[in-house]
Amino acid sequence: MSAPILRIASDVKLPERADAVVIGGGIVGVSTAYFLAKRGFSVALVEKGYVGGEQSSRNWGWCRQQNRDARELPMATKSLELWEQFAADTGEDTGFRRCGLFYLSNDEAELSRWAAWRDFAKTAGITTHMLSGAEATERGRATGRSWKGGVFSPSDGTADPGKAAPAVAAALMKLGGSVHQQCAARGLELEGGRVSGVVTEAGTIKTRIVVYAGGAWASSFCRQLGIRFPVATVRQSIVRVASVPQRLPDTLHTTGVSLTRRSDGSYTLAISGRGRVDPTPQLLRFAPQFVPMFAKRWRNVFPGGLEGLRSGHESLARWRLDAPTPMERVRVLDPRPDAAAVKQTYRRAIDLLPALAEGGIANAWAGYVDSTPDGVPAIGEVQQLPGFVLASGFSGHGFGIGPGAGHLIADLVTGAPPLFDPAPFRPERFKQSAWGKVADF
Ligand SMILES: Cc1cc2nc3c(=O)[nH]c(=O)nc-3n(C[C@H](O)[C@H](O)[C@H](O)COP(=O)(O)OP(=O)(O)OC[C@H]3O[C@@H](n4cnc5c(N)ncnc54)[C@H](O)[C@@H]3O)c2cc1C
Repeated sequence: MSAPILRIASDVKLPERADAVVIGGGIVGVSTAYFLAKRGFSVALVEKGYVGGEQSSRNWGWCRQQNRDARELPMATKSLELWEQFAADTGEDTGFRRCGLFYLSNDEAELSRWAAWRDFAKTAGITTHMLSGAEATERGRATGRSWKGGVFSPSDGTADPGKAAPAVAAALMKLGGSVHQQCAARGLELEGGRVSGVVTEAGTIKTRIVVYAGGAWASSFCRQLGIRFPVATVRQSIVRVASVPQRLPDTLHTTGVSLTRRSDGSYTLAISGRGRVDPTPQLLRFAPQFVPMFAKRWRNVFPGGLEGLRSGHESLARWRLDAPTPMERVRVLDPRPDAAAVKQTYRRAIDLLPALAEGGIANAWAGYVDSTPDGVPAIGEVQQLPGFVLASGFSGHGFGIGPGAGHLIADLVTGAPPLFDPAPFRPERFKQSAWGKVADF
């Protein structure tokens, strides 16, 4: 059920020491390691499965400013520049294109929300176009329907989730960084209360800086270190259909279903925000903090099943450093797609764009999104453990902002002026009440 992804070769022998060790080879981890290596740091990246194997290959690929929460908008804008610059600097192909993102609606309330966001975005210098009914209908002519309105955001785009993280990892290796796949980090060594090394299944790497970019595993890894990091993982499903002769929009979002053209011409289809919450011990532990989040999103989030218990990423167990951990048992989180969602997604997509029927379902997969209580990631050094930098909880929209997050972490680690304000992402905010504002999208 895995999503298509380029596999890269990696280094077998662990270095004895490194200026920084990055744990997790998703888009956030590889971007962090890349920007650290660019500044002359010796960097080792360890990944328990293969680079990009979890969320970073399972998403739609949208790199959007459109409808971004204000706290993340500067990171989204900078990330778009970094996606572009990366190709020019390295010659590696992430599949990034500024193809624009396209939204259609017949719901006046939704259109008003988009217009309000457009007005706010203008204050940040971002141009996005509200489309009149006639414009939306013309641009959305592949649907054969008329629409009340829409949005086109020309400076946004997509990258290819099947290529992006491996491309950045390849660029990291060209800069001298090492990448170690099938290598789980079990925990940390400490000296005098600060990080002094990373204990992996293949040995220990001495270092004073560890960046943990472990996606859905972040809360359980933090728990081993006595750090409380509230995360709820939501299982989201995607359907891929083969390419079809008729040229369809590169991207299209409607409330019913959304579509993205991949760089091989196939399309990924999904229902925005729809997911299943699989009950786990961790979910129960943090449930009170997620009441506002689930209250806001209840229309699209449904109770799940035993998938979460089977994969073990949300168990409350403590693991030992000298024995295999749950991460070595489950190298790649590959949950079953939600059969009802797959059926509904495909039916709605064919209904919206009948030309898609010619393609037929090629495959379907699911991924666990790592949500924080306020829907905004945790990025920064954890005060109680000097040398440990957390970069997780990207809440279902971290692919597009991965490069900006990686750059910011490299800024924080090297003491450079940050590319944008890191304050909204402080991990310490979860110590206070997290009943603050939940991100809108
Ligand atoms: C269906 C779906 C659609 C989405 N659509 C979009 C979208 O269109 N746009 C967007 O911006 N975002 C989207 N997202 C969200 C986006 O994919 C994620 O926010 C982003 O990929 C997170 O990247 P990451 O590097 O933090 O985590 P991941 O990609 O999950 O990577 C974490 C990695 O850490 C590894 N790891 C964990 N613990 C350890 C350890 N102890 N030792 C070694 N390795 C470890 C894991 O194996 C994994 O490979 C979507 C997500 C899903 C599931």
